[in-house]
Amino acid sequence: MASIKAERLVKRYGAVQAVHGIDFEIADGEFVAILGPSGCGKSSTMRMIAGLEKISEGSIYFDGKRVNDVRARDRNVAMSFESYALYPTISIYENIAFPLRSANVDNREIDRQVRDIAEKMELTSLLDLKPKGLSSGQAQRVGLARALVRNPAVFLLDEPISHLDTRQRYRMRRFIKSLHQKFNYTMIYVTHDQEEALALADRVMVMSDGEIQQMAVPDEVYARPKNAFVAGFVGEPPINFFDCGVVAEPGGWAIEFQGRRLVLPERLHATAQQIGAGGLAAIRPHFLSIGEESPLRLDGKVFITEELQDQNLVMVDVGDIRFTLVAHPSVMPKRGEIVPVSIDPAHLLLFPRSQADKVGSIAA
Ligand code: ADP
Ligand code: MG
Repeated sequence: MASIKAERLVKRYGAVQAVHGIDFEIADGEFVAILGPSGCGKSSTMRMIAGLEKISEGSIYFDGKRVNDVRARDRNVAMSFESYALYPTISIYENIAFPLRSANVDNREIDRQVRDIAEKMELTSLLDLKPKGLSSGQAQRVGLARALVRNPAVFLLDEPISHLDTRQRYRMRRFIKSLHQKFNYTMIYVTHDQEEALALADRVMVMSDGEIQQMAVPDEVYARPKNAFVAGFVGEPPINFFDCGVVAEPGGWAIEFQGRRLVLPERLHATAQQIGAGGLAAIRPHFLSIGEESPLRLDGKVFITEELQDQNLVMVDVGDIRFTLVAHPSVMPKRGEIVPVSIDPAHLLLFPRSQADKVGSIAA
């Protein structure tokens, strides 16, 4: 397969600018997820790579060769959309063979390639059937097989499984990941589902408003988000944000909130120095706890407890900040109860207060 590079890529639809001059590189055999809210420019980016949408400005390269002026069908790109309409009157075999027949490949070669991809897609036993009786998962795999049979340079999937029910979705997700692991396709996978992106991809490209916010391995996106938007978009339940003061301490920095002071780990000293007095602190629900030892314990008043199978979500008010925390299933405080809340400073994040408005748009 191929490596892909984009340089100052811009997409405009009339007066609407959907992609604002983005740069990225994807290695041969890499699996990258493009993650972001609806309307942030994921599909536009994907369609420019595929050649289905004109590039307004900038360049795309496959293996170092500029492809701006190469037509979609000559880019050798496989693209799978959410809708994977199969031809109902012909067999699965012929559905998969279709792109090869259109390209005038000879019959023996068609047979070889169809059987090869059918085996990879676990469809061999279904080749003689018509699409009608297939489960949605099987139909999806036939769609993928048809897209992949031409041995494409790059494999693009735009929200390919968002229409499946939860169970099918997990199954397809595992299948797509195994495809990548076994056959090393260069894959770009568009999704608005942060969990899916982090579970599947080698690297995640987080977009919002037509710009790349961060492009990094899943662990880094989760633990070291580059800005408040990424911090808020990634993670479930969502990260807790709270306003804080930022103050110098002998030998370091601290944040202040609700009349309390929390000394920052060294990792955050440079950030603290840059952002000045007003900060936006953030802590994931998994790094707050009830009743555990920590450098800072706060009195929290329980607002509500939601019991899930393997964990309890507790919403607790510390002054006027409402935190969500993930507690062990045995921890089930009652509404109104006062509990000691601990923050693990090793996992604290800190952003400039000016990023608070980006956080607000996340829920929408
Ligand atoms: P995503 O896939 O992340 O949901 P899109 O790339 O589809 O985002 O869209 C990005 C922006 O471009 C949106 O504001 C959308 O309304 C706009 N847009 C997309 N396609 C067109 C089009 N064909 N004509 C006009 N505007 C478009
Ligand atoms: Mg889209």
